[in-house]
Amino acid sequence: MAKLIVSDLDVKDKKVLVRVDFNVPIKNGVIGDDNRIVAALPTIQYIIDNNGKAILFSHLGRIKTEEDKKELSLRPVAERLSELLKKPVTFVPATRGKELEDAINNMKDGDVLVVENTRFEDLDGKKESKNDPELGKYWASLGDLYVNDAFGTAHRSHASNVGISSNMPQAAAGFLMEKEIKFLGDAVENPKHPFVAILGGAKVSDKIGVISNLIEKADKILVGGGMTYTFYAAKGLSIGKSLVETDKIDLAKQIIAEAGDKLVLPVDNVVATEFSNDAPHKVVEGDIPDGYMALDIGPKSVAEFKDVLKTAKTVVWNGPMGVFEMSNYAKGTLEVGEALGDLTDATTIIGGGDSTAAAKQLGIAPKITHISTGGGASLEYLEGKELPGIAAITNK
Ligand code: AMP
Repeated sequence: MAKLIVSDLDVKDKKVLVRVDFNVPIKNGVIGDDNRIVAALPTIQYIIDNNGKAILFSHLGRIKTEEDKKELSLRPVAERLSELLKKPVTFVPATRGKELEDAINNMKDGDVLVVENTRFEDLDGKKESKNDPELGKYWASLGDLYVNDAFGTAHRSHASNVGISSNMPQAAAGFLMEKEIKFLGDAVENPKHPFVAILGGAKVSDKIGVISNLIEKADKILVGGGMTYTFYAAKGLSIGKSLVETDKIDLAKQIIAEAGDKLVLPVDNVVATEFSNDAPHKVVEGDIPDGYMALDIGPKSVAEFKDVLKTAKTVVWNGPMGVFEMSNYAKGTLEVGEALGDLTDATTIIGGGDSTAAAKQLGIAPKITHISTGGGASLEYLEGKELPGIAAITNK
C-alpha cells in the first residue's frame, strides 16, 4: 500500500520531528562509518530546503548503565551531520525538559536540531524501547509533523517511531524509508522472474521465516553458509564437525520436501580440520569427512549458483556463503557477490550487515540496485511480516 511521503507534506514554518537511523559504529567519539548519516541526508535536506525545522531523533547502541551514556552520546553524530550539510546543527544533550523545549522553540525555518540518544530514556524503565505511552506523547507534543526515516528500527515498536506516530494526526515516510519499502516490497510482492534468493549466514533458525515466505514466491533459493549443513544432515549426508542445529533438522526436512528443486544446496565445500584460517583445508564433494568442518562452498557450487544467477531478473541476497572473515573461506561469498555485481539487467538487493560488508569489500556496492540499511528489519520484511514502524505510517 502506498504510504504518505515527506514530500507530500507542507513543511514550511513547521516543526518536523524526524526519526532517523543514526546508529553508527562509534569508538571514543570517532565515527567508524557515516553511511547511515549520509543515507538520511535527502530527507533532512528536503525539510530545510522547504523552510521547515528539522528536529532529529535517533537511538545509538544500547544503554544499560550510566557509563554507557558517555560513549553513546549523539554529539559526534551531530557534528558530522553539520559537516555533511555544510551548516550549523544544534545538539541538545537531553531527551526531554526545558533545555530541549527552549531549543526547539528558538529554531528558525531551515534549522536542524539533534536530540540526544533516545535510548538514554531506557535507563529509566526502558521507556524508549518499551514504547512508554507518556514518552511518545511527550515527544509528539514537541512538533507539528512527524516523519519516520529509520528503516533499521522499523521492526521494533519504540516510543520514537510507533509512539510518536500514534500521537500525531498523520505520519509520513522519509525518502530512505520510501526506497526501502519500494525495493524490498517489490521484490517480495511483485518480483520480476526469475526471482532468485541467496541465503547464507550461520544459522537456519535465523532464516527459516525468510525461506518459508520465499518458497512460493521465488523461482530458486540458493543456500550457503553454516546453515547448509543442517540441510545436509536432513538429507542424511555426513557433516563431520560442521555447524549444525540438531533441533532444526526436522524442519529442514520439511523445507526440502516443500521446496523441491527450488532449493539449491552446495554440491561441494571447502572443509578444514579446525575453525582457523591456518588449518589444513581442501575441497570435497558431498559428504563432509570425519574430523573436518565445512567453512565455505566449493568451486562447483559457485559455478552452479552463477549459472542460476545468469538469467535472474530479481535477486535478494542475505548472508555470506562461508566464513568470509577468513581469507581461505571467503571465495564463495566473494564470487557470488561478484556474479551479482555483473548482472546488468536485474534488480539486485542486498540485506544484512555481512553481505553488505562483503559487497563493499568487493567494490560491487555501486552496481547493486539497493543495499538495505536494515539487517533485522530487512529480514523481517522478507519474512512477509508487517513491521510496526511501517504500519504506523499513514496510508495514502
Ligand atoms: P549471519 O549473521 O547469520 O548472517 O551469519 C554470518 C556469520 O556466519 C559470519 O560471521 C560467518 O563467518 C558465519 N558463517 C558462514 N558460513 C559458516 C560456516 N560454514 N561455518 C561457520 N560459520 C559460518
